[in-house]
Amino acid sequence: MTVRIGVIGTGMIGEEHSRRITQQLTGGEIVAVSDVNVEQASTVVDRLKLDAKVYESGLELIKADNVDAVLVTSWGPTHEEYVLAAIAAGKSVFCEKPLATTAEGCRHIIDAEIEAGRRLVQVGFMRRFDSGYKLMKEAIDTNRLGEPLMVHAAHRNPEVPERYVTPMAIHDTLIHELDTFRWLLDDDYASAQVIFPRKTRHAHSKVEDPQMILLETTQGVRIDVEVFVNCQYGYDIQCDVVGEDGIARLPEPQSLIFRQAGQRYNEILQDWKKRFGEAFDVELQAFIDGAAAGEICGPSSWDGYAAAIASDACVKAQESGQIEAIEMPERPAFYG
Ligand code: NAP
Repeated sequence: MTVRIGVIGTGMIGEEHSRRITQQLTGGEIVAVSDVNVEQASTVVDRLKLDAKVYESGLELIKADNVDAVLVTSWGPTHEEYVLAAIAAGKSVFCEKPLATTAEGCRHIIDAEIEAGRRLVQVGFMRRFDSGYKLMKEAIDTNRLGEPLMVHAAHRNPEVPERYVTPMAIHDTLIHELDTFRWLLDDDYASAQVIFPRKTRHAHSKVEDPQMILLETTQGVRIDVEVFVNCQYGYDIQCDVVGEDGIARLPEPQSLIFRQAGQRYNEILQDWKKRFGEAFDVELQAFIDGAAAGEICGPSSWDGYAAAIASDACVKAQESGQIEAIEMPERPAFYG
């Protein structure tokens, strides 16, 4: 069965995902697209040579009879409305992070999904599909490291635009780590603190950069994450898990080692699209296969909610300078 997909939001990642589905993956076909900027949607249809109808409204696209499943890749504040509409229509929906911009919004989605009686939502936390993180997860789950005690991590970007402001270091950038560590450690967060070191001269006036986020889990694992979004040199994701019996380090992306002009070096990637390209492929293939089988798996609405709760606490910690408690409600049996 071919899953007929409608894409809402044809900006950078909406176009990337549409290209993947059309040119690389199997079992899915883009039959409808929508964007608040209709011209942009038409341009993407032409550029990717899609046989897809352009809708002025995302809600109309969701209702279309020939749309089996929906990709929500529009601006974050629009996600909740589209995901709720897809659930109401009984359609599988892949939603880019964030699931909703508030924990309350995520809760509405959880309530609607439980009411619908089956999982329909997959959240775009693609790191869970990255081969390096999967190896780390396996090492932890098979107890090769003993009990995990600490995690040291870094999320670095070369630079960010003027519209990127201090809280975005949490809800746009750290959000990936917030999901990844919960999944790796099979644990929830108990508290968060944010520390601002000396500011880099490369950061514009509205963003504090770098930031250090200190998290504690309910099992007492301590996590430190450096978020440094104007590091200049490249897109660099680091993660060490320190256990009782050993340490696992996230593998570096494969790259050639050059010997040249008196130096030995390898290049560092410059953006997230290449770093997580394979993970995006695997993630979206899982969504297509799940939609075809009527069994959506991967990161759930509950995971989107948990990340939103932790993210809200981190933003509060940015403002208060204090250690902020994180309280997760009990997980409904529905999300096993
Ligand atoms: P983008 O390039 O700005 O694209 C978003 C598109 O959605 C734009 O074309 C925008 O139109 C459109 N849009 C805005 N409001 C809409 C509405 N009500 N209905 C339909 N379309 C609407 O942003 P992006 O970088 O692709 O990001 C999109 C989402 O993906 C964000 O939630 C982002 O956090 C997420 N993302 C995830 C990753 C990841 O690593 N998983 C990476 C990048 C982005 P206008 O430009 O005219 O407003």
